[in-house]
Amino acid sequence: MLVKVKEEQKMIRKVVRELAEREVAPMSEKLWEHQSFPYKFWRMAGELGLIGLPYEEEFGGGGGDWLSFVIVLEELARVDCAVANAIMANSSVGSLISNYGTKEQKNKYLKPILTGEKIGAIALTEANAGSDASSIKTHAVLDGDEWVLNGSKIFISNSDNDITGPVVLAAVTGKKEDGRNEISNFIVPNRTPGFTYGRKLNKIGWRASSTGELFFENCRIPNENLLGDRGSGLKQTLTTINTGRILIASMGLGILQGSLDRSISYMKERTTFGKALTEYQSLQFKIADMATHTELARLMIYHAASLKDDGKPFDKEASMAKLFATEKAMEAAHQAIQIHGGYGIMSEYAVSRAFGDAKVLEIVEGTSEIQRMIISRMLLK
Ligand SMILES: Cc1cc2nc3c(=O)[nH]c(=O)nc-3n(C[C@H](O)[C@H](O)[C@H](O)COP(=O)(O)OP(=O)(O)OC[C@H]3O[C@@H](n4cnc5c(N)ncnc54)[C@H](O)[C@@H]3O)c2cc1C
Repeated sequence: MLVKVKEEQKMIRKVVRELAEREVAPMSEKLWEHQSFPYKFWRMAGELGLIGLPYEEEFGGGGGDWLSFVIVLEELARVDCAVANAIMANSSVGSLISNYGTKEQKNKYLKPILTGEKIGAIALTEANAGSDASSIKTHAVLDGDEWVLNGSKIFISNSDNDITGPVVLAAVTGKKEDGRNEISNFIVPNRTPGFTYGRKLNKIGWRASSTGELFFENCRIPNENLLGDRGSGLKQTLTTINTGRILIASMGLGILQGSLDRSISYMKERTTFGKALTEYQSLQFKIADMATHTELARLMIYHAASLKDDGKPFDKEASMAKLFATEKAMEAAHQAIQIHGGYGIMSEYAVSRAFGDAKVLEIVEGTSEIQRMIISRMLLK
């Protein structure tokens, strides 16, 4: 299926591209160097309606479609993937609360993260449970009308940030009849007593996006903070992650496009042996491959997003798009550095920073290996 991009979506691309070039590009290197978060830009993106674009207007969202949101993330990631990730991870929390929360929970926790007042974090991964999410150990015990949380989480985007709001925490609340963990999701307000952070994690990519280590020690939250039904936490999160895969893929697409654009510009301006780099076939072929992968990734991602917008099944398409776009983004980031020679290694060059960012994309929201398992399982079913 060929997806038709509407005029309104083309306009969104134009506005976000200009915004990213004007507001994000000039500070991108500093954000990378200091691993700092662009608070001012976050507010601005909230006011412009970019953060909550596909969510219900009643709770501060923009009432838009997912394809438009994909274009927003693509354009931001073209300039700085870490900034795009802040919106992406926030959106996972948005989806969880929007799909499973009560009206009270939405008013209290969804609205502030869609408008840019706060930022949301989703806390599933633990030191010994990443791909194998069902083996988490953090647990919650009901004591009267309060849940008591104990355990720890690692690698949590948007946590330990000055404006971190709700953290949607997955915790074991019992055992199912078949002996597997019963997992529930809870909305935990940031820094509730008993909820602390560990060391600052130093990363090779997504440096402007905070990544925290969370500890819960007899942390008490009211029963009303249970999200959806008890025991449905893992299902809620895995369903949300399917959409997340389209969004991570769109960030890969941004890196593909950015690597291509920067490589072409550099090849035009750099000369060796008296000739522009554009004259060398070995480099021409690199940009031909990048452009082909960019187009293919775009088709796959827009197709998956359109299926979601149309209310059709999209899980397989989301996994395929995520796998392809992120692996090709990694390849493009690698080749863009090669085209830039020694300059490509310097962090002042965007191609260098995109290299670490692309690597993260192959790990999060299900690694490439996990995507291949999901796709092959669906094919063999
Ligand atoms: C920057 C960053 C931000 C993140 N943000 C969040 C967040 O906001 N919230 C959150 O909950 N988590 C987050 N994560 C965690 C991320 O989702 C996990 O790192 C990821 O799911 C992989 O889990 P793991 O690191 O435990 O690796 P493992 O699961 O230990 O995997 C190690 C390797 O083994 C492979 N492998 C594992 N199982 C299999 C198998 N059955 N068959 C074949 N190969 C297999 C994997 O593909 C990988 O190559 C983040 C991670 C990073 C790096």
